[in-house]
Amino acid sequence: MSIFREMGVLPDLEAAGFPRKLGARFELANGALGTRFSFRAGKYNREPEAIQVERAVFDHVLLKHARNSGAEVREGWTVRSFSTDDAGITLEVSDPESRAQTLRASFLIDASGRGNLTGNQEGLRVMHPRHKKLAVFAHFKGVLRPEGETHNDIIIARLVNKWFWIIPISAEKTSVGLVMDKDEFAQEKGSPLEIFEKHVAISPSVKERMQNVQRLGDIRTTSDFSYFNRRLVGDRLLRVGDAAGFMDPIFSAGVFLAMWSGKLAAEAIRQTLDGGRSNRETFSRYEKRVRRGMTYYWRMVDHFYTTPFIELFLRPSEHANLFSAVIGVLAGEVEGSWSLRWRMEYFFFLVRLQSVLPLAPRIRYLAERSLSRSPS
Ligand SMILES: Cc1cc2nc3c(=O)[nH]c(=O)nc-3n(C[C@H](O)[C@H](O)[C@H](O)COP(=O)(O)OP(=O)(O)OC[C@H]3O[C@@H](n4cnc5c(N)ncnc54)[C@H](O)[C@@H]3O)c2cc1C
Repeated sequence: MSIFREMGVLPDLEAAGFPRKLGARFELANGALGTRFSFRAGKYNREPEAIQVERAVFDHVLLKHARNSGAEVREGWTVRSFSTDDAGITLEVSDPESRAQTLRASFLIDASGRGNLTGNQEGLRVMHPRHKKLAVFAHFKGVLRPEGETHNDIIIARLVNKWFWIIPISAEKTSVGLVMDKDEFAQEKGSPLEIFEKHVAISPSVKERMQNVQRLGDIRTTSDFSYFNRRLVGDRLLRVGDAAGFMDPIFSAGVFLAMWSGKLAAEAIRQTLDGGRSNRETFSRYEKRVRRGMTYYWRMVDHFYTTPFIELFLRPSEHANLFSAVIGVLAGEVEGSWSLRWRMEYFFFLVRLQSVLPLAPRIRYLAERSLSRSPS
């Protein structure tokens, strides 16, 4: 929200009527345990709420804002390749009629998402060694939502080694998706829709909310998550958002990290243009900051797939204000104050301890275990 405020785009986003996100609920898909993280209850986050967006609408609001702010926006153009020389950047592009063109620029911000234009061209992409995931998802009408403060909460429902997201993206529309191992998906028999429905059927907490839904549009899949580029900057080049790195979307941090790194990239270029620090020094400070922020979420994601983490995460304790610290991370305090950071280190220490000594009761993913064919 603070980035939107600073950009001056908040009124347009408010006018678009996106659901206000006041908290997040994480639960076991068998319905046995769940916890709500209310942003307002956090002691270390600056923002008490966020918004949840339908991307097509949201991206269009941002595009119009860029245009109204003086940017020249060209839609339907594709960048094919780039090269750098002492005086600037050259881009080989295709225009909307697929005609080849050449453009020159002083700097390049690569915001090509998982298309990862410059990272791929330079062979920088490193895939995460373990998280080879796939998501099956669609938009639905009629997903049950509670009344009151929790009405628009995002819900994450955890199965043994998979999870569902349930995200209200407009007054009527809810995005529901299942994230699972790509290999397991390949071994399952059936279409993506059948696999999705099978997992809804074995997840009481999800099934209950989806009793009378109507699917809006096709079920979609996307795979090959979680990678980072070995370098986030080059001469006259900065990579932002997913073009810097992407991790499993459990904590819904992707759009925030894209906005945050985009803002830092703009600042780095402005500082370079204003003189003062050298291009190299400013860009390497950018790289350090963004890598640190992204690594922070990677660590959370890595832990999320372990049972000791879930055991502590779903039974939060206000001991040493740990609950608040976790809320801070969920609310996008990516750089966080020292008070937040040491608490998160302490929390991760307790997670390690939990794996050998049960500080919180052990959990079982019972419903899935009794119904699924081959749980791990
Ligand atoms: C299954 C899944 C679920 C997710 N759920 C969430 C969530 O709940 N919350 C959240 O915050 N994030 C979520 N994310 C992550 C989020 O979608 C991304 O982190 C975010 O979109 C990154 O923004 P971006 O601008 O870097 O890239 P994108 O949004 O991917 O935008 C990249 C743009 O660049 C364009 N482009 C690419 N290549 C070229 C080229 N060569 N020339 C010209 N244009 C090009 C593309 O067409 C696109 O418009 C999810 C991601 C996945 C895969």
